[in-house]
Amino acid sequence: MKVIDHINKATSTLFSFEILPPLKGKKIDSIYESIDYLIEFAPHFINVTYHREEYLYKKRDGGYLEKVAIRKRPGTVGICTAIINKYKVDAIPHLICGGFTKEETENALIDLQYLGIDNVLALRGDPIKTEATFVPKENGHAYAVDLVNQIENMNKGIYLNEETQSAHSDFCIGVAGYPEKHFEAPNFSTDLKFLKAKIDAGADYIVTQLFYDNDKFFKFREACKNAGINVPIIPGLKPISSKKQLTALPKIFNIDIPEQLSDALLKAKDDKEAAAIGVEWGINQAKELIKNSVPCLHFYTMGKSEAVRNIVKAVY
Ligand code: FAD
Repeated sequence: MKVIDHINKATSTLFSFEILPPLKGKKIDSIYESIDYLIEFAPHFINVTYHREEYLYKKRDGGYLEKVAIRKRPGTVGICTAIINKYKVDAIPHLICGGFTKEETENALIDLQYLGIDNVLALRGDPIKTEATFVPKENGHAYAVDLVNQIENMNKGIYLNEETQSAHSDFCIGVAGYPEKHFEAPNFSTDLKFLKAKIDAGADYIVTQLFYDNDKFFKFREACKNAGINVPIIPGLKPISSKKQLTALPKIFNIDIPEQLSDALLKAKDDKEAAAIGVEWGINQAKELIKNSVPCLHFYTMGKSEAVRNIVKAVY
């Protein structure tokens, strides 16, 4: 079922979460363990992230270094299908522009269609570690809006090879939004214009970057409304689970930690205490967001299902 139909049918705030595929070579059981922790709360959908290739230099005989491309976390689509079969819950693959030509994207979408997957989260992807800025693959997409256009075209039966008479797909398309602005955007308003372009291209809903200050989310939601963005906006939440994250999260996700939360975390004597503070903050955030009628709470689990479980248990 489409995310948008889940939202339209709902009489209260929905719950969803996001997982990462296991590291290459690890079993899928770790994924099932994370989901088993949360499944009793009847999530309406589960997102599975996509991880593109990274480049490593391997030492070869004679002292040469060979550049090798590896994908540390493959298996996004396989995991989605496994989740749908095992739990009968909608699973949403993340699809990125990075590393894909348009044709490879089309083929990936055709696979998703055959597998009965109704939803896609369309993203650009970050620059790979060895690149300063995002570089699209030759004949690939430079921005998420271009990917949304391609999916929307397929939904109308327009494939890359126009001579092919093709059955139209029917994907529900999600895109990313940034309450604290995307790190590359020159300013908040320009970022919002590009977000609107994704909606105008056919995206059905927005999932936000994680944030810890609800006021920033409410301002973002209001700014979206004023900009003519009328699709559901799903807030993304991630409980802080260690003292280290106080500096790691702002660096990785380009977000602020509110002073009240950072003061509390700085005083925490160990990670156990920090995690308890993170859960308490998450519960308060979730309660206020529900009170303010968000369509769904989306949790980034990042391998920490227990903290998410404690928050969900307190608010549902
Ligand atoms: P875009 O919407 O393309 O925006 C990227 C930047 O370009 C922004 O600064 C925007 O303002 C600007 N921009 C947009 N259009 C134009 C234009 N036409 N001209 C000039 N500038 C423009 N990454 C992964 O690799 N895998 C994942 O599974 C994944 N999941 C995510 C899930 C969520 C909910 C979120 C919020 C992010 C996720 N990401 C993931 C990270 C995401 O790929 C990065 O944040 C990436 O840097 C931007 O992706 P985007 O889709 O927002 O890009």
